[in-house]
Amino acid sequence: MRGASFPSLTTKIHSKRSVMKSHIFNLRILNKLIALLLTAIIFFVIATPVYAANGAKPHVINAVRSNSVVTLNNQVHRFHTFNLFGQNHIRIRDLASMLSGSLMQFSVDWNSELRIIQLQIGRPYNPVGGELSLRPTNVKTGTFTNTRISINNNEHTLSTIHIGGETFFRTRDIADAMGFSLRWNPESRSITLGAGSLRIEYTTTPYEGPGSTVRLLDPNRPVVALTFDDGPSSNTNLVLDALGEHGVPATFFVLGSRISANSATLRRTANAGHEIASHAWSHRSLTRLSNEQIRTEVTDTSNAIRYVTGITPTLLRTPYGATNRRVEGVLESMGFPLIHWSLDTRDWESRSQTAIFNATMNHVRDRDIILMHDIHEPTAHAVRRIVPALLTRGYQFVTVSELMCYSRITLMPGIEYRHGR
Ligand code: ZN
Repeated sequence: MRGASFPSLTTKIHSKRSVMKSHIFNLRILNKLIALLLTAIIFFVIATPVYAANGAKPHVINAVRSNSVVTLNNQVHRFHTFNLFGQNHIRIRDLASMLSGSLMQFSVDWNSELRIIQLQIGRPYNPVGGELSLRPTNVKTGTFTNTRISINNNEHTLSTIHIGGETFFRTRDIADAMGFSLRWNPESRSITLGAGSLRIEYTTTPYEGPGSTVRLLDPNRPVVALTFDDGPSSNTNLVLDALGEHGVPATFFVLGSRISANSATLRRTANAGHEIASHAWSHRSLTRLSNEQIRTEVTDTSNAIRYVTGITPTLLRTPYGATNRRVEGVLESMGFPLIHWSLDTRDWESRSQTAIFNATMNHVRDRDIILMHDIHEPTAHAVRRIVPALLTRGYQFVTVSELMCYSRITLMPGIEYRHGR
């Protein structure tokens, strides 16, 4: 729109109207353009999450956990921080606890009425329990938030990330708001905070283990879990290519019997960050097997997945979605929740990429688990269209475990789940 206005502006300058008139007209257009531009800038500043401005619109945003440690007055403080877009994020109580008793100390109070965190610089910090927590361990998703904080009664609204029930602030934002200097020393992986003559340095080391990366989701946008059954097969690679193009994760319910012939493909799937789950061994309906046969099918599949990827699957989808109380009892004793689906693309039936695309796009809902099969080539072609179409609609992609974690659904062995609602 704005670009299209310029030629008409030029035309006006060369029109037969008086120079004065055209000047006024141009000024009016120019004013309008400036107003429009300002509105656009204000809109983008408000509407674009601050984090999105830091990268080339990544579809998958991970916060990476670090273990941080500082020795102050001969006391060792250990806490965890998160790195997001190369920026250190810290829990406010960890910072307060660490600086407690120093010249940089400050108090922290939560004003539940005003829903604001109140800090007073110079006041002693009052621990309220759960300080310097090294949680969370098994959290898989977090969200972007904004948090109101007042520092010596000056109010700020800061971009924060919410992970495992805790709010993490960008350390630099807090330092700026408090008037502390902050320096990142890449060689020693340490952060130096300063105020006056005081210098405090804490080092961060990458944390390895469960919860080392946390996928961040925008709570104002829908989420969906794509799932693929019956692989691994040669067509799985086409599905992985399609997902990889947009960097989105999915969950693969694999058949134990197919693993040894396609072990490289399964390894590739796991290395790309997708979730590997069990679909039992032979694709026989578990309802027709004895308890002992079910146990063998499930155990053998878990062992095969572990042998190839090092991952122990925690989710199971029964072949055909077939189940009964007896099957659920056996799976309960083995610790497996049953993960079925809320949207069946019927790709195994139609084998048509257009039909698969339409089945998905016409019926998709927030927190769906979508059923597809990575053994069919049309499915891979459909995925290539479905992923960008869902991204355009604002959908965020998660694995099944992430969907449940994000939806605060605690998975129980022997219980069937169809979605994250
Ligand atoms: Zn199947």
